[in-house]
Amino acid sequence: MFNKLIVALMPLAPRFIVKMISKRYIAGEDTASAMVACQQLKQQGFLTTVDILGESVTSNDQAREARDSYLELIMEVAKNNIAKNISLKPTAMGLGLSEDLANEYITTIVQKAHEAGVFIRIDMEDSPYTDQTLDMYDRLRIKYPQLGTVIQAYMHRSLDDVKKIAAITGNLRICKGIYKESPQIAYQDADEVRQNYLKLVREMLVSGAYVGIATHDPFLLDESLKIIDELKITKDKYEFQALLGVPIVKRLEALVSMGHRVRIYVPFGSEWYAYSSRRLKENPDVAGYVLKNLFVQN
Ligand SMILES: Cc1cc2nc3c(=O)[nH]c(=O)nc-3n(C[C@H](O)[C@H](O)[C@H](O)COP(=O)(O)OP(=O)(O)OC[C@H]3O[C@@H](n4cnc5c(N)ncnc54)[C@H](O)[C@@H]3O)c2cc1C
Repeated sequence: MFNKLIVALMPLAPRFIVKMISKRYIAGEDTASAMVACQQLKQQGFLTTVDILGESVTSNDQAREARDSYLELIMEVAKNNIAKNISLKPTAMGLGLSEDLANEYITTIVQKAHEAGVFIRIDMEDSPYTDQTLDMYDRLRIKYPQLGTVIQAYMHRSLDDVKKIAAITGNLRICKGIYKESPQIAYQDADEVRQNYLKLVREMLVSGAYVGIATHDPFLLDESLKIIDELKITKDKYEFQALLGVPIVKRLEALVSMGHRVRIYVPFGSEWYAYSSRRLKENPDVAGYVLKNLFVQN
């Protein structure tokens, strides 16, 4: 309720205040800022994945622009001395307009990334796009092994999806899921989501497929470490992932010092205001996190 109130009041907040709050979570407006953030994170021992803010484009021109920005980003990431890893949202490539268009643009990006030795992760968006995203991943990964996608633990279907991808030793990020989905298709209870999360991580690790354990939840971090230990999984088979700005740096540094790979998701771009407002409206819980994090340094 309180979180919904914050979201309702957001349009009244001056832009500079929203910017001040978002600053912590966004590397800046241009590629150069993102590269600086990645260099700094690298010095702290972190890997990175870079994302250009923007999604749900409403015209082919916007989708083409987004594609071109990603093609440029691939070159930047390849020439800077940082982790060669990029994340992208299918609706930024026009998936909401036409599946063929998004397929064409994403294929172009993945081909270019392949040539430059850059890994691409296709983020998972809300449920209308799940099948299309997984089909795209399935089709492209045969030719381009430097490709991964994402599975959301709140979806009832996810264990089946993970089993299929684990069987072909695919590469998955496992996250809880950020969109609001209906009880018909998604767990609503936090504990059920957690339990499913751990099932998915275990399934990936048992199969020997590579998994990105993307969470800031201390319980899931602890339990995932226990599974890794129990199954004696080597450190080249998984990584931990966190969003830029979420105040768990000490915990992440501890993971790095124990020799685990930790990757930070670094979003940047001029779309920060639209992106932040949309995210908050979609899931008011995020507003609560952001407010809480204002008072936490690390
Ligand atoms: C690297 C990465 C990539 C992701 N990619 C996707 C994706 O492709 N598709 C998708 O649906 N979801 C994605 N997510 C979001 C994810 O699904 C969850 O919504 C988010 O991580 C919160 O879940 P949690 O596991 O951290 O646990 P929670 O219990 O929700 O959060 C634990 C704590 O982390 C902090 N926190 C969590 N999220 C935020 C936030 N957004 N802003 C500020 N503080 C926060 C809060 O302090 C909170 O108390 C991604 C998350 C990460 C870390």
